[in-house]
Amino acid sequence: MSHIFPRSCHGSRPVAVSGDGCFIIDQSGKCYFDGSGGAAVSCLGHSNPHVVEAIKEQLDSLAYAHTRFFTSLPAEELASLLIAHAPEGLEKVYLVSGGSEAVESAIKLARQYHVERGEPQRRHVIARRQSYHGNTLGALAVGGNEWRRAQYAPLLVDVSHIAPCYEYMDRSADETVEDYGLRVANELEAEILRLGKDAVMAFIAEPVVGATLGAVPAVPGYFKRIREICNQYGVLLILDEVMCGMGRTGYLYACEADEVSPDILCIAKGLGAGFQPIGAMLCTGAVYDTIAKGSGFFQHGHTYLGHPVAAAAGRAVLKNIIDRDLVSQVRERGRFLERKLRERFAAHPYVGDIRGRGLFWGIEFVQDRMGKEPFPPEVNLANRLQKVAFEAGLLCYPMSGTRDGKNGDHMLLAPPFIASEAELLGMVDMLEKAINSVL
Ligand code: PLP
Repeated sequence: MSHIFPRSCHGSRPVAVSGDGCFIIDQSGKCYFDGSGGAAVSCLGHSNPHVVEAIKEQLDSLAYAHTRFFTSLPAEELASLLIAHAPEGLEKVYLVSGGSEAVESAIKLARQYHVERGEPQRRHVIARRQSYHGNTLGALAVGGNEWRRAQYAPLLVDVSHIAPCYEYMDRSADETVEDYGLRVANELEAEILRLGKDAVMAFIAEPVVGATLGAVPAVPGYFKRIREICNQYGVLLILDEVMCGMGRTGYLYACEADEVSPDILCIAKGLGAGFQPIGAMLCTGAVYDTIAKGSGFFQHGHTYLGHPVAAAAGRAVLKNIIDRDLVSQVRERGRFLERKLRERFAAHPYVGDIRGRGLFWGIEFVQDRMGKEPFPPEVNLANRLQKVAFEAGLLCYPMSGTRDGKNGDHMLLAPPFIASEAELLGMVDMLEKAINSVL
């Protein structure tokens, strides 16, 4: 009997024993194509020798040194590399252990920034519905996924949630794409004014919504308007690229596509690529200087901040992405994948939408394409589809809960950047078989 407390207490899972390129192999020798990189984590596949070697080298020299006393070479070098390629204005890097921690750090930094600027009344965060920013209490509070929040609601601070930018479901037929983007972005201004012009400390959003909507980018112009509103009202813009960052969308930082720079940016998953648990919060010089020239102390921290081995892995991952120009490869393979997905599924009677960027794609299922009516929850479509695909040897990431109060099903694909065209085609074939056997 296993003594592991599993994520789901139903059923059992095979024991994963090794990794080879884009595949995970279980104890029985069965191979699984990692079509979702776990949860958009394993961007370099499972057996990258450079990253493995970098981790071993660091372990041989120094495993750990507390950041109260020391910095480390891998942490310094990783931070410099991240900043050298970062959106304009980002100057400092705070290294943490994962995505939730990066988001917690961002929220606390935003609060401390305003307190130190002499605006302690700024205490509200505005976020978006159908978003996910992590499972710790602060990150869960800003997240807008009702299912994840419901039972913890009494423990969560009050956060306003405005509409996401979700063109497929929410743009009305008589609205241009541009007007739609402005309408939903302007909800931020309305909410700031409702809460009080100087009461809001930050707005947080994912440039491409991952876990809750399934690879949904904003329409052009949306984030530019968001940036304008944040500037106008002194609200910090926090972009959560935990899932969509690190080259996943064909841009090293996903917000490059939207031509905006945030005040604070969170990354994780693809930064360690699954080789080590690591995340990071990047902030502008202006935010950093406020603390540095004020109290001089960010009143926040975890024991494993800037862990040298995790940083060595992150440095090796990032160098790999840059040196092999994997971001261009993601764009090129992404175009191939998009073509194949549209060829196979665009006319499928139960596929409502195919959307994404780079190697980050979502397929949304509906029971009525005209009315965009989702399947009822009891059909449990995405989860059943994932199980069938898994049996056949394909990992893909299912999600439900598309709209307020209504079920919805989509499947997320986030294959490793190194996947060949033949492997991507194999993934689409397996997915097609799974869809046809479930629907
Ligand atoms: N933010 C986003 C956008 C995510 O997708 C996730 C995880 O899926 C998180 C934050 C939380 O990251 P972690 O699971 O590493 O704590």
